[in-house]
This record gives sequence, C-alpha cells and structure tokens, in this order.
Amino acid sequence: MRILIANDDGIYSPGILALAQVASRFGDVVIVAPDVEQSSMSHAITHSRPLSYRRTPVIKGFPAYRVNGTPADCVALGASMTKVDVVLSGINLGPNLGNSMWHSGTLAAAKQAALLGLRGIALSTPVTSDEPDFEALKPFVVEVLALLLPDPTLILVNVNFPEKPRGMMWTRQSVRHYDGRVVPGKDPYGREHHWLAVTPVEGTDEGTDRWAHERGLVSMTPLRLDLTDEPTLARAREAHPLR
Ligand code: MN
Repeated sequence: MRILIANDDGIYSPGILALAQVASRFGDVVIVAPDVEQSSMSHAITHSRPLSYRRTPVIKGFPAYRVNGTPADCVALGASMTKVDVVLSGINLGPNLGNSMWHSGTLAAAKQAALLGLRGIALSTPVTSDEPDFEALKPFVVEVLALLLPDPTLILVNVNFPEKPRGMMWTRQSVRHYDGRVVPGKDPYGREHHWLAVTPVEGTDEGTDRWAHERGLVSMTPLRLDLTDEPTLARAREAHPLR
C-alpha cells in the first residue's frame, strides 16, 4: 500500500512524524505537506501562482517534501508525483469535530484524496497543556489504521483521538451547535480588532463525534463528498415543480 501523508499544521509538526512512523507499518510512506501552518484553510487550492516542492531531509527516515501551498495542494501535487493508494492527514494538533469539519485543512487533505478517486483518512487530537503525547497515542493509531485501511469501501473517514482513549466508536457528525464566535479586542494603538475564536459546546447528541470525544472514545466518522440534502431536494421538486 502506498501512503501519502499530509497535514495542515506544516511539515515540521510532531503530529506528522508520529503518523508517518505508525503508517510505515502498513505500507510505503511519502510525506508531502505545507511548508508553513495552513490550519483552517479548509479546501482552498492555489490557482493564481505556481506551486513547488522541496525535499525536506530533516524529517528523519521518510521521503518528505514541503510545498508552498495548502493541504489540498499538497495532496494534488503528491498524487501527481507518485502513485498513491491512500492519503493520511494529520495527526492534527487540535480536534476536528462537528462543524469544525467545514474549516478543517486536515480533513480537506483527506477530501482531496477522495476527489481524486483515492481514499483519505483525517486524524486529529486535542492539544492540552503541552503537545499531545504521541507515544501514548500510537497504539490507538495502529488500531485505527488496522481497522480502516484494509476496507476499500471506507473512502473518507474523519478520526478524532481523545487525549487518553479508552475505546473506539463509529459516529456521525455533530451539527447541532456551531462553536465559532467573534471576540472583539483592541490592538496596542487602541484600534478595534476581532478574533475568530472557539466556544466550548455543551450538550452533545448521542452517537455523534463530539459525544464520543467527551467520553474518551476514538471517534470514526465515515463521510461522503455529496452534500445534497436529499429530503429537501425531494420536497423542493414537489413544492416548486419546474417545467
Ligand atoms: Mn491544524
């Protein structure tokens, strides 16, 4: 199995090295990742300037290339450089649960794989006081990849590891709450500015990714590219028939 590893935290993130080390048990690994952090870039692609990649030998033990682009760029470029079966994205420093999937560059790299007819798995974990303890997390990453990789019907999966996993769960995306908020502040010159920040979500629905996360379970959410709201489409066709 040929595995392309990308992320949105940048090629020097400890999360990408931890993922590469685990993934190498399952196949041949190539790392193609942004040269600087691209978190919350979602599925942006670079179309108005050229992209380039540079070999990055500082990532010990793996062929690695840094790209002056977004997570989706890295996957598109990586898949054109070499044959790829599956893209693993992460391990992100920060969870990608619920509506944050819309903003996630980590997930976008996995989505780009699915768009290219490949498979993509996004992996994320929270940052607590310090960096995540990737050594402690590795056995769970092994368990998840051993479960997901052999099943070719799992095209796109969003995986979130709690800080200290105590089990695994298949989940759906939590969409009841949006945790984004705008926080006003002042710059050193007294001018108003705004931070886009995150509010903790309270009250999660059973069976969702957030619900699993709160209970210390590794959340695995299969996703699809088709965003069509089928019941609403059927209702719209009925309510507003078009000639
Ligand atoms: Mn990130």
